[in-house]
Amino acid sequence: MSETPMRARAVVDLAALRANVRALRARAPRAQLMAVVKADAYGHGAVPCARAARQAGAEWLGTATPQEALALRAAGDTGRLLCWLWTPGGPWREAVEADIDVSVSGLWALEEVTAAVRAAGRPARVQLKIDTGLGRNGCQPGDWEKLVAAARDAERAGLVKVTGVWSHFACADEPGHPSIRAQLGVFEDALSYAAREGLTPEVRHIANSPATLTLPETHYDLVRTGVAMYGISPSPEVGLPEDFGLRPVMTLTASLASVKRVPGGHGVSYGHLYVTPGETTLALVPVGYADGIPRAASGTGPVLVGGKWRTVAGRVAMDQFVVDLGGDTARVGDEAVLFGPGDRGEPTAEDWARATGTIAYEVVTRISARVPRVYT
Ligand code: PLP
Repeated sequence: MSETPMRARAVVDLAALRANVRALRARAPRAQLMAVVKADAYGHGAVPCARAARQAGAEWLGTATPQEALALRAAGDTGRLLCWLWTPGGPWREAVEADIDVSVSGLWALEEVTAAVRAAGRPARVQLKIDTGLGRNGCQPGDWEKLVAAARDAERAGLVKVTGVWSHFACADEPGHPSIRAQLGVFEDALSYAAREGLTPEVRHIANSPATLTLPETHYDLVRTGVAMYGISPSPEVGLPEDFGLRPVMTLTASLASVKRVPGGHGVSYGHLYVTPGETTLALVPVGYADGIPRAASGTGPVLVGGKWRTVAGRVAMDQFVVDLGGDTARVGDEAVLFGPGDRGEPTAEDWARATGTIAYEVVTRISARVPRVYT
């Protein structure tokens, strides 16, 4: 770790990530594990997290965009890798040449893959995605027969190998939600139909983190874990990270940039939404919405300074916000901990999510590139 003092840092505990991968594998012992490292590994850094996940036994990596997948290949990853968010004219040929499994949700995509295969001179590995009820990407069940037929013909022609059939849950983070059973029913039908038509996918998969943690019957051949691998629970209803032996991976800290005594009646930050109730000490935390701190944390976000939780006083600005230390003192350069595992009494990403009306997924993912990641 660099000794240079830093304005702010996101410390990423790769040993925790590896331990989380092992804990998740133990929950799904008969399935392979896909480490979902899209969106720069939910803000944790795709390449180091992908390497750590591989070290802990992840057979697969998963990304949304093809660019994310190609960047992992450029960084030297050679294992199985699926990428699922394609648009017309995407880099199909590069993906095929880089041995990336590509997700196909419709005939247009299959046509683009087969054209790329002819140019690349080698078959593509494709995974057919069915929309079992999320209402997002994926083939509508009514179009499944056509997609399966086209994929089977492309396979027989030696253009593609159908390596997977897969889907994604809408409400797995709400245990007992009726859509879970309904989606599984549609998935089973889609799998049976594909099998009857002669497709023999290596992997059938639908489980994300909450399903991996709470619904063993959804594990099939592969589980795709994102948020849980970063030590964050998918939702309060699913439980706490520690209930599953998971440890938060990211700790976000900043060094106080200013500490000063001010009189009562002192307006703080833009709009003077906070006015000091009496003489007090204000400390300046040098991170703001350009760093990914939600402006919605104005007046609500919790921060550990000097062993106590403080609350963001007034508005979060682009680069900084203020906390009121009351009768306590601090020194310039002292550490402010915005969130972490909670061991030192600091808030967690879940606490920030509650305070700002969002989900912990967003809290970590939005931490911007301006905050250096420090790997331990
Ligand atoms: N699979 C797909 C298709 C996704 O889009 C995501 C993330 O949203 C995941 C798996 C991982 O979800 P989670 O972070 O809940 O494990």
